[in-house]
Amino acid sequence: MIPRTMRAMVLSSAHEPMALTDLPIPKVGANQVLIQVSACGVCRTDLHIYDGDLAEPKLPLVPGHEIIGRIVKVGDAVTRHAVGDRVGVPWLGHTCGTCLYCRRHRENLCDRPEFTGYTMDGGYAEFTSAHEDYCFRIPDAFGDAEAAPLLCAGLIGYRTLRMTGEQNERLGIYGFGAAAHIVAQVAVHLGKRIYAFTKPGDTAGQAFAMRLGATWAGGADENPPTELDAAMIFAPVGALMLAALRATCKGGIVVSGGIHMSDIPAFPYRWLWEERQLRSVANLTRRDAEEFLAIAPQVPVRTHVETFPFEAANVALARLREGAVEGAAVLTMGA
Ligand SMILES: [Zn+2]
Ligand SMILES: [Zn+2]
Repeated sequence: MIPRTMRAMVLSSAHEPMALTDLPIPKVGANQVLIQVSACGVCRTDLHIYDGDLAEPKLPLVPGHEIIGRIVKVGDAVTRHAVGDRVGVPWLGHTCGTCLYCRRHRENLCDRPEFTGYTMDGGYAEFTSAHEDYCFRIPDAFGDAEAAPLLCAGLIGYRTLRMTGEQNERLGIYGFGAAAHIVAQVAVHLGKRIYAFTKPGDTAGQAFAMRLGATWAGGADENPPTELDAAMIFAPVGALMLAALRATCKGGIVVSGGIHMSDIPAFPYRWLWEERQLRSVANLTRRDAEEFLAIAPQVPVRTHVETFPFEAANVALARLREGAVEGAAVLTMGA
């Protein structure tokens, strides 16, 4: 039985703690599904929304874009999913299908996108609705809480990894949180060598990286033992783009996987010379999701999660801000 109302954590304005609120069960359009949420990851992007760094959230908002749950109702025109299916819902909630970018198979750059837990209500709630084409079957190998971080940390991490270039082997990772701990496992599986950079002095974070297969781990102020072919930046610190650039060899590629970052300081052109590249990754495509969810059980990716009851979403955000979470923070909905 689907109840008439649900409990949700609602953000009413930036900087204000989310409030536990009773809301009507979301309506389901013809191409949408209603999902009973079992787990929802807490992403750094949620922190940026809370802090007002991302300026245009729907308000009031139910955040959360790493959603795992079971479909309990389908719209009249739904063909891809059925009641009972376990699915995940990522950040990319909908694309227009007709703009220049959609037509060029770059739907991650769509001019009229919808984002889960930002322009549409997300998964910090007992139920959520999603467009059927933008939710994905979750491999059986993963429990609900373990699967949640795959939906953003995993997907964006995977897209970031792809942008470092297929032939490149020596990869730096700056910022060893949720995305890094997943992408490091995938990279090692693909035969890459990982050089992990944490906050200076974070020996626990460095030990965590080594346990996940890194070749070397040290502080972001240290030089790696070899030049890097490419680097991924997962910490929202612009100066790290330059630290990484200086660590790369000729032709090196530095990719930022984050949606928000402090300013990148001015730097001499010679650091970029010899065909080095600085670039960002924005959002994801459905193809990224399908590819990554196929490869994750082959690795197999093991996610490290710290779970919180969903009513404690404010506590989870605070822990993430402090850098106190090893791996990924996940809200769970109880039985
Ligand atoms: Zn995210
Ligand atoms: Zn579009």
